[in-house]
Amino acid sequence: MSSNETLQAVRGMNDILPDEAGLWLWFEEVVRDWLHSYGYRNIRMPLVEPTALFKRAIGEVTDIVEKEMYSFSDALNGDQLTLRPEGTASCVRAVLQHNLLYNAPQRLYYSGEMFRHERPQKGRYRQFHQFGVEALGFAGPDIDAEQILMCARLWHKLGLRDVALQLNTLGDAASRHRHRDKLIVYFKQHMDTLDADATRRLHTNPLRILDSKNPAMQDLIYAAPKLMDEIEDDAMQHFFAVQAILEQHDVVFEINPRLVRGLDYYNRTVFEWVTTRLGAQGTICAGGRYDGLVEQIGGKPSPATGFAMGVERLLALLQDDGMALPKLQMDVYVVHQGELASRMASQVAEQLRDDNLSVLLHCGGGSFKSQMKKADASGALVAVVIGDDEAQAGEVSVKPMQGGEQTRVSLVNLTGTVNQLIK
Ligand code: ATP
Ligand code: MG
Repeated sequence: MSSNETLQAVRGMNDILPDEAGLWLWFEEVVRDWLHSYGYRNIRMPLVEPTALFKRAIGEVTDIVEKEMYSFSDALNGDQLTLRPEGTASCVRAVLQHNLLYNAPQRLYYSGEMFRHERPQKGRYRQFHQFGVEALGFAGPDIDAEQILMCARLWHKLGLRDVALQLNTLGDAASRHRHRDKLIVYFKQHMDTLDADATRRLHTNPLRILDSKNPAMQDLIYAAPKLMDEIEDDAMQHFFAVQAILEQHDVVFEINPRLVRGLDYYNRTVFEWVTTRLGAQGTICAGGRYDGLVEQIGGKPSPATGFAMGVERLLALLQDDGMALPKLQMDVYVVHQGELASRMASQVAEQLRDDNLSVLLHCGGGSFKSQMKKADASGALVAVVIGDDEAQAGEVSVKPMQGGEQTRVSLVNLTGTVNQLIK
């Protein structure tokens, strides 16, 4: 490769350019406010974890661990590491490592980049972003319902239309084992329809076959033994209690007995929020209960439940709804010419920022006319103009950009005048 060839970003890993980043910033603020209103606190974990963590948490025989993880051995010491494909495993690892569950349950959230080596397409990338929400140390159906109600509130806040809730229960370990055995017997009778992945998983993780997106297997999957038929009383009562709370709040849901989720750690309640407007990548938010995970990662058993939202898919949906990209609105553009005026200009700009105004200071010289053009293009509401004349008098001229008289004011009156004009 020649040394001056243009370099490109890694396939499936996107730049988010300033015009679009405005929407991200707005979204992140709305989401944080919403999380705080339910008492969730922020936690930040590394992007890289020991590979063993994800193998143990997500499950060896899952799409993510088998074929989607960016794993590598650290060239300096041989450690086996992985770029995080999701946040729950890291979050639970951090909670245990720092003993956060010692005497109180925890409501936590995090956000940031996740990495999965998938085939890039609309709504599916190799670096993507999630907001993850986890409640650890809570056993009852009330917290499952709280998390689902939270989501409903967020969609409402964002003005999202056409998002539907799908709900299922995976029961507990014993029922899953019984179901597993029945699945093996069933799929064995239909070996000719199974694809290579399914054949391989038949004995290691037959539940994963139900998660397959292969169209040729959908009829077979549809008729497979239902986990729902194996669920024990306790788990069923838990599931009914979640539903009762949702009904009390008029949250509409559909029970989808084929919803199994692509990660092994789930039990009991699982849910997905889906839209039909993003093509095949219609799940914008997914989660559920994972009571076994804390113990699996080496902690004292502790129930937990959580969910993650795909930021790219949510923002795509918002834009599909006609949401405009928010812009950075500047208050003031400072135009200046001459040595004395330039010195004064940077001082005036800092003074206005002291007073909490946003200010673009013209840099790079040029005629008044060309500077005023830039002021206009910047979208600033007010231009502050400083020429020799003004500088000598220790004053500035103030011009509302939307039209109106230019006035001259002293520095002490500047902030007041600007504030009047931008009100
Ligand atoms: P899918 O079935 O679409 O592959 P998943 O079950 O693998 O999703 P989760 O692990 O539950 O996804 O992640 C939660 C959310 O993160 C998803 O609902 C989706 O919105 C988002 N997400 C997952 N993978 C990607 C990806 N590769 N690119 C963009 N967003 C993603
Ligand atoms: Mg996936």
